[in-house]
Amino acid sequence: MGGCCSQSDPDLSNDPMDPSRAGQSSKPGISGKSGKPAQIGPVLGRPMEDIKSTYTIGKELGRGQFGVTHLCTNKATGEQFACKTIAKRKLVNKEDVEDVRKEVQIMHHLTGQPNIVELKGAFEDKHSVHLVMELCAGGELFDRIIAKGHYTERAAASLLRTIVQIVHTCHSMGVIHRDLKPENFLLLNKDEDAPLQATDFGLSVFYKQGELFKDIVGSAYYIAPEVLRRRYGPEVDIWSVGVMLYILLSGVPPFWAESEHGIFNAILKAHVDFTSDPWPSISPGAKDLVKQMLNSDPKQRLTAFQVLNHPWIKEDGEAPDTPLDNAVLGRLKQFKAMNNFKKVALRVIAGCLSEEEIMGLKQMFKGIDTDNSGTITLEELKRGLAEQGTILSESEAKQLMEAADADGNGTIDYDEFITATMHLNRMDKEEHLSTAFKYFDKDNSGFITLEELEHALRDYGLNDSNDIQEVISEVDADNDGRINYDEFVAMMKKGNPDATQNPKKRRDAFV
Ligand code: ADP
Ligand code: MG
Repeated sequence: MGGCCSQSDPDLSNDPMDPSRAGQSSKPGISGKSGKPAQIGPVLGRPMEDIKSTYTIGKELGRGQFGVTHLCTNKATGEQFACKTIAKRKLVNKEDVEDVRKEVQIMHHLTGQPNIVELKGAFEDKHSVHLVMELCAGGELFDRIIAKGHYTERAAASLLRTIVQIVHTCHSMGVIHRDLKPENFLLLNKDEDAPLQATDFGLSVFYKQGELFKDIVGSAYYIAPEVLRRRYGPEVDIWSVGVMLYILLSGVPPFWAESEHGIFNAILKAHVDFTSDPWPSISPGAKDLVKQMLNSDPKQRLTAFQVLNHPWIKEDGEAPDTPLDNAVLGRLKQFKAMNNFKKVALRVIAGCLSEEEIMGLKQMFKGIDTDNSGTITLEELKRGLAEQGTILSESEAKQLMEAADADGNGTIDYDEFITATMHLNRMDKEEHLSTAFKYFDKDNSGFITLEELEHALRDYGLNDSNDIQEVISEVDADNDGRINYDEFVAMMKKGNPDATQNPKKRRDAFV
């Protein structure tokens, strides 16, 4: 692995939640005001930082069960964000602390995916943990539903499409949200057609195919019956979205009672009323979809993929969204298309990522590496993707395998997997790009020469490609035969739409 920051040797047998590992930050040596090294925060496991030195905290935007969210402004750039503050005194047991840590890891893992609120950074000080996120200035979907009463079928179908696509993304990334409800969907701005963003991964978990959970979490109206029976998997998210669809169309929840106990009884009975107003005038297609999402047998309930292929959601002439690829496959394909120079640079960057940032990919690696050998074989890769509904041809699987397999030994090891599947918006971080540049520019001249590049590629076993000259000419905009920092940055960001200013609009980019 390239010699940049202190990359831990990934020992997969280690407890991934060991706080001494969880805290590896890509920012070395943050020290307190006194000049002494800052104290390590017990929740995030890395040096404590005063958020107010970087941001000004403004008005309250909303509050939920755990956090209060304020507007916040970056003092240096004036850019506005949302800051969710979780008081540490509310984290009473180990599980609560674990949940916050997981929330941060999962947000990092999903960063860059369309319609998911992006995490910009996490801070811990003496009293609180602060999550600085992309600002959604349009408020909660919940408030829009209340303001509207209920939606037309067409508008509901369009919202549902986005919501189920988000669920599909989460599931294909190995995450169950577990708290899907209108309050946790925010609108990016105040426009009528503002994009919808999922947020609040405070109850979310990483899961592996076939894994079952038993903790009762979620919000009463939206909880699936199998959660109450304490045996469940990712299907619970579809149930919750089914409840949301029922509310979008009728304005009232399908399972209702005065008390929580009463609501749970109604959910377990799973009788859904389609006779009261406005249901008689709602289309059979809409009712059919609600019924199939609220099937109390999780095995028979539609999957996110099946919902997206239901005729009702596809109606109204819009191009159907068929998310055939899962997110990891998309990233592998993107990686395959890169030149070797860029691949090595990515590998250096991957070595700089914190444990927090790559925890999700580490979980996915473990999920695919079913025999726990520390490497993924072609068969394991094919099976791993097939389990998420993606069937690859033999030749395509081989090509992807070869692209990720930097040392050509026929398997993908942990470092190779992280490099090939990390999200390219890591390129947004100046410090990563400059670390990678310095890795190549061994003599610190400010330029990467042909010899230096050759050297670096050889270090990674990529010297057999005789296209080094070609790569240099392609990147070398000023034609001086070597690569300066700006040319390097341009290469890294090229063909990488997610690294541009507004990744949220690029729905087609990676999924
Ligand atoms: P909790 O875990 O306490 O439910 P949430 O993450 O749901 O916390 O945040 C609570 C509320 O804060 C949300 O319902 C919303 O009103 C507001 N909020 C959260 N994130 C943002 C954001 N990125 N932009 C604007 N408001 C937000
Ligand atoms: Mg919430």
